[in-house]
Amino acid sequence: MRYVSTRGAAPVLGFEEAMMTGLARDGGLYVPETVPQMSAGDIAALAGQSYEEVAFRVMAPFVGDTFPQAQFRDLIARAYAGFGHPARAPLKQLAPNHFLLELFHGPTLAFKDFAMQLIGQMFQAALTRSGNRITIVGATSGDTGSAAIEAFKGLSNVDVFILFPHGRVSEVQRRQMTTPAEANVHALALDGDFDDCQARLKDMFNDFAFRDGVNLAGVNSINWGRVLAQVVYYFTAAVSLGAPHRAVSFTVPTGNFGDIFAGYIARRMGLPIERLVVATNQNDILHRTLTTGIQKKEGVRPSISPSMDIQVSSNFERALFEAYGRDGAVVAAQMAELQKSGGFTISQGALEMLRETFASGAVSEDETRATIARIAATTGEVICPHTAVGVRVAEDHLGATPMVTLATAHPAKFPDAVEAACGQRPPLPPRMADLYDRPERVTRVANDLTSLETLIREKICA
Ligand SMILES: *Cc1c(COP(=O)(O)O)cnc(C)c1O
Repeated sequence: MRYVSTRGAAPVLGFEEAMMTGLARDGGLYVPETVPQMSAGDIAALAGQSYEEVAFRVMAPFVGDTFPQAQFRDLIARAYAGFGHPARAPLKQLAPNHFLLELFHGPTLAFKDFAMQLIGQMFQAALTRSGNRITIVGATSGDTGSAAIEAFKGLSNVDVFILFPHGRVSEVQRRQMTTPAEANVHALALDGDFDDCQARLKDMFNDFAFRDGVNLAGVNSINWGRVLAQVVYYFTAAVSLGAPHRAVSFTVPTGNFGDIFAGYIARRMGLPIERLVVATNQNDILHRTLTTGIQKKEGVRPSISPSMDIQVSSNFERALFEAYGRDGAVVAAQMAELQKSGGFTISQGALEMLRETFASGAVSEDETRATIARIAATTGEVICPHTAVGVRVAEDHLGATPMVTLATAHPAKFPDAVEAACGQRPPLPPRMADLYDRPERVTRVANDLTSLETLIREKICA
């Protein structure tokens, strides 16, 4: 399987290189040259299989001969062994024809663990083989950072630096990043918002001298390996609810568009997904884009669902690439326009294609709190604010087709917001009950490329 850039001007790469690189050298994102197909028979045969077996069957065609089959199975087994539920991604019924897909049973209690634990295993296998050493730099609105640290801490050929917006992540999120004691873990609190973190990260990738000098690797949600790992749970959920014989819809609490783009790939592979519904909080750039056809940046307004507090949704570029019939030059021009003037207008044809696949909705802070309270009162389920955004939007799209809302984080990651909304303080699972007692280690950094690059060079473990 070969991977091409959404901007059409970077080298075509194999799976391993595309995964290790992250951002393409023309500023684009890697996507598979063709999408492998699964027949109705292939999908029907997934029924009753373990999560790991489904993962192997769904991902193998994308991974090609990067790993021998037995090794790939072993990497998958290791990735999910630490999850706190044997189904890995259990479904729970919330209301008639409305289901929650619980994606928070991994080590850091958010869906990011599904992808990060697997690419941690794949990176380690590839580096052991090549003898290379890499520097991972990630930007996080909260959950990616802790998932990356958990996946890469203590590995001998990796340094991991995580940039998070100072003061804008929850205490549990911050502590999950600042308390690991391993010397190769570096938590950096940046004076700025998540978009600043993401912008400085992109600057580092576009500084080729720095990029090559430290052997920079990216694990942000633009990394193709992450998107791929997330395709799997769309299959396990849909098959549990009757696919391929019955279509299923999904509502996805969305920020960077990585998780929902994985759903789009599942659909392209042949999974009968009727609707993919984008759910945003008050930072509703994606909802506005799909409604008006105009993508226009506004400032970020901090919310109680901080992992979706962004205005530049990186993976949306992958959807645009498909909507424009895979014309990289058009995507490059639109992204240049975004950079220059803070917005762009999608062509009518491309917009129609996007609307055929994606519906959308936005939820205010008050509605989010009210949804947490109502769901707790009516079902006994205590849900996190991101999940509540999804549930509220999904409720506007219920019908004859089963609707699955992705429960993207455990409520205990956001205890203050959840308690304020419904009066119940969700406890941390026992395995992380001492999180508040562990010492923190963090470096405060300015929103400045040069000083960041200097700091990273200095801190790389010898
Ligand atoms: C990252 C995250 C999201 C948004 O996912 P994207 O792939 O960026 O769209 C939603 N909810 C939670 C809890 C997250 O951590």
